[in-house]
Amino acid sequence: MPELDLPHTSSTLPPIASNIVGMTHQALQHALVDRAGVEPKKARMRASQIWRWVYNVGVTDFDRMTDIGKDLRARLSDVFLIDRPRIIERQVSVDGTRKYLLGFGAQSPGPEIEVEAVFIPGVGRAGALCVSSQVGCTLTCTFCHTGTQKLVRNLTAGEIVAQVLAAKDDIEEWPSGKDDRILSNIVFMGMGEPLFNLDNVRDAIGIISDGEGISISRRRITVSTSGVVPEMKRLGEETSAMLAISLHATDDGLRDELVPINKKYPISELLEACRTYPGVGNARRITFEYVMLKGINDSDAEARDLVRLLKKIPAKINLIPFNPWPGSPYECSSWERIEAFADIVNRAGYASPIRTPRGRDILAACGQLKSTSVKERASARRKRELALEQN
Ligand code: SAH
Ligand code: SF4
Repeated sequence: MPELDLPHTSSTLPPIASNIVGMTHQALQHALVDRAGVEPKKARMRASQIWRWVYNVGVTDFDRMTDIGKDLRARLSDVFLIDRPRIIERQVSVDGTRKYLLGFGAQSPGPEIEVEAVFIPGVGRAGALCVSSQVGCTLTCTFCHTGTQKLVRNLTAGEIVAQVLAAKDDIEEWPSGKDDRILSNIVFMGMGEPLFNLDNVRDAIGIISDGEGISISRRRITVSTSGVVPEMKRLGEETSAMLAISLHATDDGLRDELVPINKKYPISELLEACRTYPGVGNARRITFEYVMLKGINDSDAEARDLVRLLKKIPAKINLIPFNPWPGSPYECSSWERIEAFADIVNRAGYASPIRTPRGRDILAACGQLKSTSVKERASARRKRELALEQN
């Protein structure tokens, strides 16, 4: 595990209202008894009522919980909050992709942090929300812009769940659980390495998939990892989430360079962990992501190697056109090259393997997250400083 720069907490701070968003059902029951004086035998029922209001109806105010008596509602609002992140910026791409820059303030540990989440509407099918699991990333994959930013900290379960609530507010998708809903999939493909924050990711998945609340099935939740092999089994056992692997190379020499965690957990160990991933089978295939880098990993020979490597694994292949960012050391393969590579993969029986880049115009595509906001804020700061100097 990477060393985290966790914020200092002090027991001398005055008690603050706890945020209900992110508490597991059980934690909420305990908190209701300890902090709001709910009778222990009624805790489960009360927690379920609150849960439905928060995650199914989307309320942010205890006064709207009409099946809870006035006195208890007043006590609840004294000690609890139903917190939403601040939407600092919201950009909509020409293709409908929506990128949110979200700020977590007083209710989060430490100073305000900012993360990005991206809603990708479906084309004739349901849409997905790409969520972040960390602020920045401790890993340094050479093609990824998030990897150039120092890790600030892990996100709490509440901060992960709140990304979903903020998106649902924005696309106005309340109540949850409708048949024709447009937010039906969650992918952990935003900022950060989810398997370095597995406890919080697990709790968040538990809340997001709960049938009384947001109700997105675990089969529609995908966690992408760069290959943190020792945590993969636990991910499967504790979350039953779908797994995606950022493979990107077919030999250790190149993967060591592109995805440096490969030096610790080489391809053979990674693929072995895939073969034994809990629940893996034809109905629950593992997605292998492969970013197309011009002249680096995009030859026909590598396409054939890829097919060979994945032969005994129930797999889907996702070819991702490289999304450039300022100063990135690679170029995206040409469209002809990607198609030739995809042909080989196709002929081996993998259906439509190319992932169309979405939201490129607002830098919301894979690996571009955070880059603009950091850059823009730095340039805005420089402008402010210049203006001050001139005055
Ligand atoms: N840390 C996790 C999840 C976040 S990255 C992981 O690495 O899997 C989500 C996906 O975006 C990964 O497959 C990653 O390899 C890919 N990616 C990162 N930078 C990219 C870029 N510049 N262009 C295209 N895909 C990129
Ligand atoms: Fe981190 Fe994933 Fe980017 Fe690698 S690709 S630096 S693991 S976010």
